[in-house]
Amino acid sequence: MIFLKSPQEIALMRVANRVVIEILAELRERIHPGISTGEMDRIAAELIRQKGVRSAFKGYQIRNGTVPFPATICVSLNDEIVHGIPSTQRFVREGDVVSLDFGVVYRDFYGDAAMTFAVGEVSEQVRHLIDTTAAALEAGIAQARVGNRLGDVSATIQERVEQEGFSVVREFVGHGIGRRMHEDPPVPNYGARDRGVRLREGMVLAIEPMVNLGRAEVVLKSDGWTAITRDGSLSAHFERSVAISEKGPEVLGVL
Ligand code: MG
Repeated sequence: MIFLKSPQEIALMRVANRVVIEILAELRERIHPGISTGEMDRIAAELIRQKGVRSAFKGYQIRNGTVPFPATICVSLNDEIVHGIPSTQRFVREGDVVSLDFGVVYRDFYGDAAMTFAVGEVSEQVRHLIDTTAAALEAGIAQARVGNRLGDVSATIQERVEQEGFSVVREFVGHGIGRRMHEDPPVPNYGARDRGVRLREGMVLAIEPMVNLGRAEVVLKSDGWTAITRDGSLSAHFERSVAISEKGPEVLGVL
C-alpha cells in the first residue's frame, strides 16, 4: 500500500533529508587518506546528536532474525556496493571510491540519501562511473512526475547507465519513504517504460541507482550486510528522496 503524504508531512521530510544531506557534505569535507571508516561513523553519530534527530540505520533489521545494522552510516569502499559496516580498523586510502549512505528520523518521518566520491586522484574511467551514476539519478528524478509511471523512472535510469557500458544492480532497489524508511512501492533501477504504478501527488520515493563498473552480480559478505560486486569491479551509489507534486519532482532537503 502506498501512503500519500500531506504538505505538512512533506515539510517534515524536507527537514529530515536536509539533515542527511548536510551531514553527507560535512563527512565529505572531513574525509582524508588515513581516516578510519569507524571515525567517520563516530563523526556522523555526533552530528546527528547535535542536530536533534535520530539515526534510522543503527539497529535496523531487514527482517526479524537478521543481524541489526551496527552503525550510524554505511561506508562502502571500492567493490563494496552498499551497506559497508564502519570499523576503526579500516582506513580510507588515496584513490578509494567511497560511498556513504544513511538516514535519520525527524518527528516520525524519515530522510535517506547517499553519495559516492573518490578520495584523491582516480582514473578517467572511475570518474566516469561516479558521474554516470549521479547523472542516472538526475535523469530518473526528472521522470518522477504526476501522470508518469514508475517504469518511466526505472527504465530511464537503466538506459542512462547501460549506454555508458556500466551495469545496474538488481538485488537492491529504491523505495517509498515516509513514516517508515522502506515503504511501497519498490523503485527498481531497471525496467520498462509505461509499466508499474501511476505516479501521484504526495508520493515520496527514495531513488537510488547502484551502478557497477563491470557486471551486475552481487555477493553478500559473511557479516550479513556488506554487498560487493561478484567480479570485484568498482561500484557507485547515489540516492535522494523525491516528493512528487503537480509542480514537478522536488528533491527533498537540497541545500
Ligand atoms: Mg534508501
